[in-house]
Amino acid sequence: MKIKAAVLDEVGKDFRIAEVDIDKPKSGEILVKVAASGLCASDLNAIDGKRKLVPFPAVIGHEAAGVVTEVGPDVSGIAVGDHVVMSIVPNCGECEWCKRGIPNYCATAGDAMSVGGLFDKTSRLSENGSKLNQFLCVASFAEYAVVPASGAVVIPKEMPLDRAALLSCAVLTGYGAVVNTAKVQPGSSVAVFGCGGVGLNSIQGARIIGARTIIAVDVSDEKLEIAKKVGATHTVNAAKEDPVAFVKSVCGGADYVFDASGREATISQAWLATGVQGQLTLVGLLKNGAQLTIDAGPFVNEQSIKGCYFGSANLQKDVISLVKSYLNGQLFLDELISERIGLEGLNDAVKRLRAGEGARNVLVFD
Ligand SMILES: [Zn+2]
Ligand SMILES: [Zn+2]
Repeated sequence: MKIKAAVLDEVGKDFRIAEVDIDKPKSGEILVKVAASGLCASDLNAIDGKRKLVPFPAVIGHEAAGVVTEVGPDVSGIAVGDHVVMSIVPNCGECEWCKRGIPNYCATAGDAMSVGGLFDKTSRLSENGSKLNQFLCVASFAEYAVVPASGAVVIPKEMPLDRAALLSCAVLTGYGAVVNTAKVQPGSSVAVFGCGGVGLNSIQGARIIGARTIIAVDVSDEKLEIAKKVGATHTVNAAKEDPVAFVKSVCGGADYVFDASGREATISQAWLATGVQGQLTLVGLLKNGAQLTIDAGPFVNEQSIKGCYFGSANLQKDVISLVKSYLNGQLFLDELISERIGLEGLNDAVKRLRAGEGARNVLVFD
């Protein structure tokens, strides 16, 4: 089948909108008509070469939702017409990590992603007979995507698909970092460094769980305004004021600090904003080879630092619970979408993301 897609020929290039071929789903796969795909920092990392996430040429995009139009062999629990969220954590159920009960680390999926394919290591996308690599087993900057069924979650039809797309990456990661990874306690103090798609969801995770003090740190007043809307009790613009001194003045140092910026210098500051026995969780992805320099002083007060992948999420369970949370008004998603764009708007949206403007740009198809 011929479809329209945004093709990225190499690092640093603009997207080229092209007509490409998509194959039918193979065993364990589904074909999804993409309804919406958020533009996430991981897409930008691939575009800018900050991390080597996929071989080129590639179709990227991974924070997506849509409607199932075809189901391949050996798929159960998903039918044509189902609405699904597509994720970057499909799992084979058979590798060491899947057997250990941590399928987010599935080795089969990791191997597939590194060669730009699905579980059989081949891609369903091509252009004039040449392979187009599929990003993170999704490739959703296209009208259709073939994805592993294990990475998809069937959601209720009353959930709007453009907002559902955000659940698959930004929300699961940011909210999950607070709820699953750090296990923030009600009544505690929280500081979030970096208020993009992920950081804003850490802020609302902290609000939903009942944190008493929630401090948002960013260099954009626009993002800090959104942070207030989703739950921040205090905001500080780090370009104008020392965020560490600010956090200390508000709560003496935070019980839980989250870095969603993925920048070394910001992490050094975030670390100093932790209070006695406080914990820093690194949510933002750092560039390949990044090295951290942190003050060793806080260790004497039992402060700790922890990594985080995909919000330690349980994909099937957490997506459904987040959908319920949105539908009952607890989880805010409408506030997070700054622009809805078409394929031709992607290049400008990348520039806005790189400049740190707005919250989420979402690619939508009619
Ligand atoms: Zn993402
Ligand atoms: Zn596996």
